[in-house]
Amino acid sequence: MSQPTQTRVTSELSTSALQAQDKSHHFHPFTDLHSYAQSGGRIITQAEHVYIHDSEGRKILDGMSGLWCCNLGYSQPSIVSAVTRQLQTLPYYNSFFNCSNNAAVALANYLAEVTPKSFNYFFFTSSGSEANDTNIRFVHRYYDLLGKPEKKQIISRKNAYHGSTIAGASLGGMDMMHEQFIGLPYVHHIQQPYWYKEGGDSDADTFGVVAARTLEQKIDELGEKTVAAFIAEPIQGAGGVIVPPKTYWPEIQRICDERDILFISDEVITGFGRTGAWFGCESYSTRPDLITFAKGITGGYQPLGGVAVSDRVADVLTAGGGEFAHGYTYSGHPAACAAGIATLDILINEQVIDYVGADIGPYFGKCCRELAEHPIVGEVRTIGMLAAFELVRDKNARERLAPDGQAGLFCREAAIGNRLMVRAVGDTVISAPPLICNRQEVDLLIERLVRALDATAIEYGVSV
Ligand SMILES: *Cc1c(COP(=O)(O)O)cnc(C)c1O
Repeated sequence: MSQPTQTRVTSELSTSALQAQDKSHHFHPFTDLHSYAQSGGRIITQAEHVYIHDSEGRKILDGMSGLWCCNLGYSQPSIVSAVTRQLQTLPYYNSFFNCSNNAAVALANYLAEVTPKSFNYFFFTSSGSEANDTNIRFVHRYYDLLGKPEKKQIISRKNAYHGSTIAGASLGGMDMMHEQFIGLPYVHHIQQPYWYKEGGDSDADTFGVVAARTLEQKIDELGEKTVAAFIAEPIQGAGGVIVPPKTYWPEIQRICDERDILFISDEVITGFGRTGAWFGCESYSTRPDLITFAKGITGGYQPLGGVAVSDRVADVLTAGGGEFAHGYTYSGHPAACAAGIATLDILINEQVIDYVGADIGPYFGKCCRELAEHPIVGEVRTIGMLAAFELVRDKNARERLAPDGQAGLFCREAAIGNRLMVRAVGDTVISAPPLICNRQEVDLLIERLVRALDATAIEYGVSV
């Protein structure tokens, strides 16, 4: 074995050395591996409150909460100490074979208090993707135990995001992902409720009903006897913060009520306060049977996800005998669960969810909606601490500034140049800032975003 020649303490390396080592040895997710191997990336070295710092000393306002997960920002010592204490007491034990640990027990009980009333059982994973794999296992097991083994098909939506394991990516409806692997044959996709892009001449409310009824049509086409579940995010996040027309969810709920199928609400982004309620299903008054959670449950401080199981499903699962043949080494990991408990404590003790619902969320929404006046902003969608801005050249024709996604990417780079982290989904610029932002920080976010929008308008020849 060769001698170690280079330091492993990478914080002592220069930016260029870090970038060189990174691009030579580290494959990144959702990244062009060819161009990354040439150019390298931005190294984030530290963070505090709602700011991230890169290795070149730039302090960037994090308008994306990491990847929609650092909802409480980067300076929460109580989460750090809860994890530390747990690691010192019991760094690991598994939850298989009739074993449990204090942190997992406490978190499951805590979740029973904060989730909608009918949810009293929780299965833990380390990610949202694994949680959605688990959902498929639960749904199939549920109908097997009910003596309806032919109910196996799952309906999802185009342009949905449900993770990146094979099952997660199959449930998701991203064309770019499906082009690179073979999806599960029992997953089907219906129209998304993306009025701005697909609504044509119909008004948003009419379109909402039309999009929802494609669920009914798909159930009939496949045969209700073969359909097990419908899965959807309350608001599509990675798809472009697609806040559906207000008619959409009531119509979906009607269909779910009338048909013998389970409804899975993927709340990996919308869970734990993002919309101003504990869960997105509460913002929209839907009644899911299963809830996927991850991201916000630990504020990103530890990897943790899971499935909340309603009484309807749990009663069947606990009534039927036989082993549920599914689980992960790190299901119920004590350190991750400790982070989850400490996160819920902050959400409750500091009344974060009320703050989002009644104070900072409405303020953020108002500031964002004012940008609809900007010459290249065709539509603004907001709810809670989520926002989307559609970039266009011609507002009436909804004509884009340039062919697919170029203007969105340009605007994102311009925002980063102005020390604001946002994301571009095609020509939709999206933001999901930490829930704990104050008004000055929202103002700063808007100010930097306006500079990026101005720069984008100028780049594409629109006068501002
Ligand atoms: C991020 C996300 C997932 C996947 O979670 P991972 O922890 O990345 O596996 C699933 N569903 C939704 C809605 C997400 O936003």
